[in-house]
Amino acid sequence: MDSATWIGLGTLLTAIVGLALVVWQLRQQRRTMRAEFGNLYIERYWQIDDDLLLERKGSKRHRQHRHRYLRLFEDEFDVAKLGFLDLKQWRAWHGVLNDTGARELVRNDLQVCDPKGDSFRRLRACIAQHERDGVGHDVRRCEGSAVT
Ligand SMILES: [Zn+2]
Repeated sequence: MDSATWIGLGTLLTAIVGLALVVWQLRQQRRTMRAEFGNLYIERYWQIDDDLLLERKGSKRHRQHRHRYLRLFEDEFDVAKLGFLDLKQWRAWHGVLNDTGARELVRNDLQVCDPKGDSFRRLRACIAQHERDGVGHDVRRCEGSAVT
């Protein structure tokens, strides 16, 4: 090989290493973003849970916190659909609805906080899928994620 070929190979190798570094950095940024979203939602969840404990059940404030929880859950569906949540974390949170008792509580919250039934479309689609199929489903096949 002549020197021009060696220079060309060196340039190509440098470009490949540079590209690999950019791809690695983008993956790290995405991982960091998912962790930040996850922490944000965890923090918000516990804030709502703490607020619920301070209010008398059936009071207006208690109902408002239940509504906040529904909004949090619906927002998690939105963010997960965009790929901004860690898949394992989203599976765990979504998996709450596999439990019949938990699903019953959420369904009751929906009935109280959104009696017209025109909000929380992703959450409602997911619950409907659970009840229609009679078993849990993976987040990748969740009909709540397909709602536009
Ligand atoms: Zn689902």
